[in-house]
Amino acid sequence: MSILRDMPPGAEERRCRQCDACCSVVAVEEIAKPEQERCQHQGQHGKPGCAIYDERPESCRAWSCGWLQGFGNANDRPDKLGVIFDAVITVGGPTLQARAVWQGAFQQPRAQVAIRGFARKMPVVLMYRDGGRKLIGPVDVVRMMKQAALDGSAEAGGGFTRPCDHGLWRSQCRPCMEADIKGQGGVP
Ligand code: SF4
Ligand code: SF4
Repeated sequence: MSILRDMPPGAEERRCRQCDACCSVVAVEEIAKPEQERCQHQGQHGKPGCAIYDERPESCRAWSCGWLQGFGNANDRPDKLGVIFDAVITVGGPTLQARAVWQGAFQQPRAQVAIRGFARKMPVVLMYRDGGRKLIGPVDVVRMMKQAALDGSAEAGGGFTRPCDHGLWRSQCRPCMEADIKGQGGVP
């Protein structure tokens, strides 16, 4: 996440507060929760947040979005901006994942400015609410990542890999996620 660490004063005090956008957007491997699906534990009993907070999966504990790590200001919190940013290292180097919190979020002017700014410097995987993905950024890097994803010569990563056997991105595919859990000796 260091590429998002342009930490402004006070950013270290950031808290999720009313935002629980990632619980509806990000995949959770341990409980086979696919991307873009609301978590079964989210916002129960008429309250926002996690109903199993003290026992939540390790990946939920480890996760923090780019905003929480210092990107933007108060208006860029994902439940307000409509986009969750996080960074990963891929075959294309530091790569940004931009996840839409709602349909059409990428078209909003504030989100467009942020995405275009990042895409001038690094590959950006746009992860749409309907499950679609698009890779943008420096032309040479994008071309190389697409080729790597196509021919399997390298794990392109950054949410831009080859689809699974069911024609989905693996983190969107509940059967694949459940198979992974079984393969590790767990109960999905
Ligand atoms: S998207 Fe970021 S600010 Fe919102 S709940 Fe998740 S980690 Fe917290
Ligand atoms: S288990 Fe809790 S923290 Fe993890 S995605 Fe579900 S609601 Fe969010």
